[in-house]
Amino acid sequence: MALIDPIVVELEGRLESPGESLPVSGKVDIPGYAVGEKEFQLEDGISYDVVLTNAGDGILVSGLVRAHVIGTCDRCLDPAHFDVAGELEEYFLFHEPEDAEAYEDGFELVGENRSVDLAGPIADAVIMDTPFVVLCRPDCAGLCPVCGCNLNHEQCDCAEQAEEDWVQSDENPFAALKNLKLDE
Ligand SMILES: [Zn+2]
Ligand SMILES: [Zn+2]
Repeated sequence: MALIDPIVVELEGRLESPGESLPVSGKVDIPGYAVGEKEFQLEDGISYDVVLTNAGDGILVSGLVRAHVIGTCDRCLDPAHFDVAGELEEYFLFHEPEDAEAYEDGFELVGENRSVDLAGPIADAVIMDTPFVVLCRPDCAGLCPVCGCNLNHEQCDCAEQAEEDWVQSDENPFAALKNLKLDE
C-alpha cells in the first residue's frame, strides 16, 4: 500500500484508567494505493471512525474505515468502482509482553508519550476489504480473446466465426460428412 503518513494519537493524560475510551475519527488524504501489482485510486481519501479503549494492559483500537475506490476491471480493463467498508482492530500494548505467543492476532506497542499510530491498522483494513477480483459490474462480458474488443461496448463476430471454423475443421467428426458428394 502506498504508505500512509503516521496518524499519531497522543494519549498523555487521557485514557489513564481501564475502561476509559476515546472516539477518534478523521480522513487520510491520499490519492490511491496498491495491493500487489494492482493500483487503486481513491475518490475522496480514506475515512476512519475508531474508538480507543484502555483495556488494562494496552489500548484497543476498533472501528471502521470507508473509501470510494476506483480500480481496473480484471476482465475488460475498464475502470471499476467499488466501496470499501472494512473493520479495523488493533491492540497496542503498554509494555512488551513476556509471552508474545499469547497474542494470537498480533499486537503493536504504545509509543512515546503514550501514543498510538493508526496508519498501519487503517492501511491493513483497507487492503483486507479490497476485493481480490475487481469487476466493473458483476456480469462484465470481458474482452474478446480473439480480437480484443470490449464486449461490453462492441460486438464482434469472432465467436460465430470460431464456431464456423470448427464446423469446417477436421476436429469436427461431422466435417467429413459435409464433403460427401452424394451422387445425383
Ligand atoms: Zn469489466
Ligand atoms: Zn472479437
